[in-house]
Amino acid sequence: ARRLGVLTLQGAYAAHAQVLERLGAQVRPVRLPADFEGLDGLVIPGGESTTMLRLLERDEMFAALQNYARHKPCLGTCAGAILLAHQVSPAQASLDILDIDVQRNGYGRQLDSAIISGPTALPGGPLEMVFIRAPRFTRIGKDVEVLAERDGEAVLVRQGRHLAASFHPELGEDPRVHQAFLDGL
Ligand code: GLN
Repeated sequence: ARRLGVLTLQGAYAAHAQVLERLGAQVRPVRLPADFEGLDGLVIPGGESTTMLRLLERDEMFAALQNYARHKPCLGTCAGAILLAHQVSPAQASLDILDIDVQRNGYGRQLDSAIISGPTALPGGPLEMVFIRAPRFTRIGKDVEVLAERDGEAVLVRQGRHLAASFHPELGEDPRVHQAFLDGL
């Protein structure tokens, strides 16, 4: 079985682990640099990216995570996608793994949360997506493939073996985003 880690500093661990286990993966939490050892891939979950950045300052985790992501596949969801981005607005540190720029909370207050169905390149028809204070992908680099859209804007992207979603694929019943990540490992 594939060995997957889920970054567990803050945010949604359990729901990701459940989906991955249902798809046959072995899952373990990642809190310290030694936890990256032997993983085939890593999920960076949603939560609050500023809080995660603060926690990553401990135990040299920022450098360990960046080093891992430079060599191994990551699935970043919501705050996790913000961490993987090249540039973040309002400005904050990021891992600079994906050639995308993001705007935090980019869908505005009146749309804090929404469940939206959108077109996807993943097999099986439209994807139902749960957005919670979601970032907006404001620039997509030329080597980045768009796998799903909301109102004509990219919300799920792939670059190499990395995936990033501005929504929460671990909430809800559709395992296709996690499946696509596992298929790419
Ligand atoms: N708004 C959060 C941030 O800026 C992300 C929200 C989420 O992960 N659900 O980090």
